[in-house]
Amino acid sequence: MRLVLSGVLFALLATRSVLAQVNPLFAPFDCRKHTESFDVIAPSPFAVEISDFEDSVRFMDDVAEIEEVGDNWKEWAYVENFAFGKDRGAMTMITDLNALHPYFRDQISTLIRNCKAKGIEIAVVETYRTHAKQHEYKTMGKGYTNSGAGKSKHQYGLAVDVVPIIKGVPVWNNTSLWRKVGMQGERLGLRWGGRWRRPYDPGHFEWTGGVATGSLHAGIFPEVPDALKRYPCLDDDLELLKKSWAAWETEQSSLTRK
Ligand SMILES: [Zn+2]
Repeated sequence: MRLVLSGVLFALLATRSVLAQVNPLFAPFDCRKHTESFDVIAPSPFAVEISDFEDSVRFMDDVAEIEEVGDNWKEWAYVENFAFGKDRGAMTMITDLNALHPYFRDQISTLIRNCKAKGIEIAVVETYRTHAKQHEYKTMGKGYTNSGAGKSKHQYGLAVDVVPIIKGVPVWNNTSLWRKVGMQGERLGLRWGGRWRRPYDPGHFEWTGGVATGSLHAGIFPEVPDALKRYPCLDDDLELLKKSWAAWETEQSSLTRK
């Protein structure tokens, strides 16, 4: 990795200095336009790094394209019903942490890591949830949810459902195990569904930063601690997420029709 980076740095510096000789006027640097000149500037020992660099340029192009159109939802992992041994309805469940609000996503990654450090393996059962999927749970009865479409924090990327896994098997009914997991989540400032009674939902964790569901529905996201420093692109990321969520909503209805 260090080799690749130093190759990229060398290539960038070399190109910039040649540009300075050729054209003293400042022009915005576009690495795609100038890749061909690297062959002239760089001696053959750098050939490997140059091809790495060209790969990384292509990769950056791909990323830029994905980011512009908000197409990354196509990469999100999802599972079908009974994937974790429970009836969760006919519609697919998105299990990808990338479908979550960036701050909440990091909190859940920490939760998973902290549980692992305590010897508890956690599987993610569901992250973002479409309106259609929420509606399905609502029709499945009180054991699933009290919240109709638009009312669950899952629909704003601010909730997850998890389950502890022992020897490869999801364990849904071990209260003391749930308590340990719940405690880890609460330590991170998450709201834990194991405190609820109707329904008791120990696999559920959410974070709203004090924002009411109505405000979430109106498009207001919670204030993130230290946002400028830790999440400088938060607004852009959330805009992209919203596009991806909308795309999944469409996908879910087409999957359901099949
Ligand atoms: Zn949940």
